[in-house]
Amino acid sequence: MATLSAAQYDTLRQIQYRTLNLDVKYRSAYNLIIMKTNDNKPAEQRRKFIRLLRSHGISPTMQRIKIASTILERPQHLSADQILAMANTNGRPVSKATVYNTLGLFASKGIIRELFVNQDRAFYDSSTHPHHHFYNLDTQEITDIAVEAIHIDLNAEPPADCEISNMEVVIQVRNKKNS
Ligand SMILES: [Zn+2]
Repeated sequence: MATLSAAQYDTLRQIQYRTLNLDVKYRSAYNLIIMKTNDNKPAEQRRKFIRLLRSHGISPTMQRIKIASTILERPQHLSADQILAMANTNGRPVSKATVYNTLGLFASKGIIRELFVNQDRAFYDSSTHPHHHFYNLDTQEITDIAVEAIHIDLNAEPPADCEISNMEVVIQVRNKKNS
């Protein structure tokens, strides 16, 4: 094993010192986020969302953690406004612009899925696996249809130089008149 010269040893110590310092700073920022995300979720659950955001290349701010925990708490379909209202039931308020921007960011990174069911309202799905939907025009309720339940026999070619990237079916339903 090669021995280090005094200069090399010094450099190595400086690097170790900086790394240690960074680590301490990083941990205190992390703990601050854990403490300041002032809602009723247990710390372990918040850590889970921090890991999830990081694994998708998203810096975990307190507001992003709060929005992620709101929509990803259970399998569900929610409009941006519903998510905004739920996120603001406790803790520090989150602005509408932040919620809308964050949902767009999450969708672009594949954490949630944007649903194109209503041109006037943005809806999001906490489940990102391929599946289809019923959309109730009266109640705006969205329910899942298993991907195997719909067989698409497409008798058309995509436009020149294009390939199909996704086939998502939305079946619109209405409440029966007599119910
Ligand atoms: Zn769904």
